[in-house]
Amino acid sequence: MKITVIGAGPAGNYSAYLLAKQGHDVSVYEEQPVIGIPWACTGVITEDVFSRQFRLPDEIVATRIEKAHIIAPDKSEVEVKLKNDIVVNRAAMDQHIASMAKGAGARYYVNHRFISLQQNGKVTATIRNKNLGSEVKVESDWLLGADGPRSEVAKAAGIFGERKFYIGLQVTAKMENDNAIRFYPSEKGIAWTVPESKNVVRAGIAAEKHANIYFDEFMTAAVGKDYKERIIGHQAGPIPLYNPKLQTQKGKVLLAGDAAAMVKAPTLGGINQSLIAATAVAEAAATGKDYEKLWKAKMGRDLWLSLIMRKIMNRFSDKDYNKLIKIFGSYKNKKILESFDRDEPRKFAFKLLVQEPRLLLMSGKLLF
Ligand SMILES: Cc1cc2nc3c(=O)[nH]c(=O)nc-3n(C[C@H](O)[C@H](O)[C@H](O)COP(=O)(O)OP(=O)(O)OC[C@H]3O[C@@H](n4cnc5c(N)ncnc54)[C@H](O)[C@@H]3O)c2cc1C
Repeated sequence: MKITVIGAGPAGNYSAYLLAKQGHDVSVYEEQPVIGIPWACTGVITEDVFSRQFRLPDEIVATRIEKAHIIAPDKSEVEVKLKNDIVVNRAAMDQHIASMAKGAGARYYVNHRFISLQQNGKVTATIRNKNLGSEVKVESDWLLGADGPRSEVAKAAGIFGERKFYIGLQVTAKMENDNAIRFYPSEKGIAWTVPESKNVVRAGIAAEKHANIYFDEFMTAAVGKDYKERIIGHQAGPIPLYNPKLQTQKGKVLLAGDAAAMVKAPTLGGINQSLIAATAVAEAAATGKDYEKLWKAKMGRDLWLSLIMRKIMNRFSDKDYNKLIKIFGSYKNKKILESFDRDEPRKFAFKLLVQEPRLLLMSGKLLF
């Protein structure tokens, strides 16, 4: 099959790799001149995500993390040991997967922006070559929209639907640190400091509204009043909230990754889901099976449960977060937190509710 991929992020690159390996004729169009740049990501991921998919070269790992602190609005906190969490150099990761795809035979066209599409049996994409200022028409059997949260492919195919976004504001800033992640959940949203090296952190917030005010308050408290002078880079972007009602295929057009809003709602992470979506794209191409059914079988339940967790968290006040962190601080719950696989929340939620009946007493918030 001839397959056109729009977007050279994790979803597009890994799909291109798997499809090219199967022998398909794959072309990837990326609007930026350099793959992976600019990046808007904290890069926290569990390492076994990669061992399930492919080996990640050491130079892509910025640091390995052994503990996280979850800090309540009243400053009480719980420390959690982490087993295999890493912080990746996101641009290098995207470039690495793209080079795997190129090695498997995929062709890459950077500085090429997807504009529109037409379907009649096959799918024809109009793509602007930004180098020449001209437009080309590309016909293929499938068009994969892996073009991120504001997916133009989804819009052009008429399946953008109803989407909600968090605003992610992040900077890299000079800050000595103890190589631990710090998460600050609150009624305003989620905030974090994540080490990139001994002297640099990625610090930011994700919020539905008033993101700038929250960011300034958080940075002043967590990094310091002089945080603006410490900044060495900015990374900001919209983070889509998973919506199980979104259509992810229409005719010969498929969506994967952020373009399909495949983001874990509580942590707002989407790299793993993008890679899993790519395996579903490849399986659909190899077997002719329904793409939506395939990706939903792989991660639909976990995405749905993570959305429920996010809806519950949205109802929490700062006082509820204070209570929750205290409950999590008890020995047995800490052990459960430490065994939490973020990618499979269903196992975690069940264990925790069985172990901790006090959570059910917060059921005013838990039921909706
Ligand atoms: C502040 C922030 C922090 C985050 N932290 C984490 C984290 O720690 N862990 C985690 O797992 N996830 C995190 N995420 C989410 C993660 O970055 C995304 O889920 C992931 O990048 C999705 O990959 P993707 O390939 O679907 O899309 P993207 O990575 O967005 O890639 C889409 C690509 O398509 C290109 N493109 C867009 N439009 C066009 C067009 N019209 N034509 C051609 N090309 C186009 C873009 O330039 C881009 O290269 C974070 C997101 C943000 C904003």
